[in-house]
Amino acid sequence: MTDAPDLRETPEAEADLTVDQAKLLSAEIRSGISGVMNAVADVAERIVAFHSGGGWRALGYKNQDECADNEFGITKQRYYQLHKYGLARRRLADDPDFDLDVFDIGETAVRGRNLDAAVQATKEVAKEAKESGASPPPGEKIVLNPVQVQDKATEISNKKRPKTDPPPTDQTGAPLPAFCRRAFENRERLAEAQRALRSIRTVAASVAAQPGGELLEIGNIQHQIDAAALAIKHKMPHALCPKCKGQTGCDDCEHRGWISFEDYKTIKVLS
Ligand SMILES: [Zn+2]
Repeated sequence: MTDAPDLRETPEAEADLTVDQAKLLSAEIRSGISGVMNAVADVAERIVAFHSGGGWRALGYKNQDECADNEFGITKQRYYQLHKYGLARRRLADDPDFDLDVFDIGETAVRGRNLDAAVQATKEVAKEAKESGASPPPGEKIVLNPVQVQDKATEISNKKRPKTDPPPTDQTGAPLPAFCRRAFENRERLAEAQRALRSIRTVAASVAAQPGGELLEIGNIQHQIDAAALAIKHKMPHALCPKCKGQTGCDDCEHRGWISFEDYKTIKVLS
């Protein structure tokens, strides 16, 4: 695809052709390329019709892949490439915002790209070309640069991909600077300690109601467990330090970058 010219076949910097001969050959090459493109587009459109109409079933093949190989002599990969190209052209033809008589795409523009993203990318690249004043020579179309369409399609696909990990925040929703991220990660371990205390409380209460637990001062035990759980809760990281915003640590937050639930509540009441 990115084959470099074979230098053995390339003469030195001289030109054997006259300008007129070169121009004629160039026109023939362009016309040939355009003919090839139209032929591929034609095949692609027929493949879409064949595919959606269940042509392989009508011809007695077990599946589409077998049909691609035996009926058309192409790999299934090639078959699906052409099918996608046909679908993209169909979508563009039906799109009121896209004029297939003015702009066109080659098959490579959609190759390896998600169909929706490729169609959207084609429209955007055409819109940019239109805004920059591009217009086709009489009787010809503007074939959009396939690399530009591919790059734009990749960009669109990446934008659509949902972010798997939302950025970590403090308990008020503020994004955490790296400086105090670790402290907030450890919140989960402190929460686990609270859950463990609650579990001990439940077990102790249950034993207190049974033979062997008669001497337990269950009220006093529960009170102490509750106090321990509350002591942890009050001292857990809750919000970024209002002064240094968790960036560096300061005297106010004793260089931690964060304030506890207790301090946060106090500040809320005072403000
Ligand atoms: Zn601070």
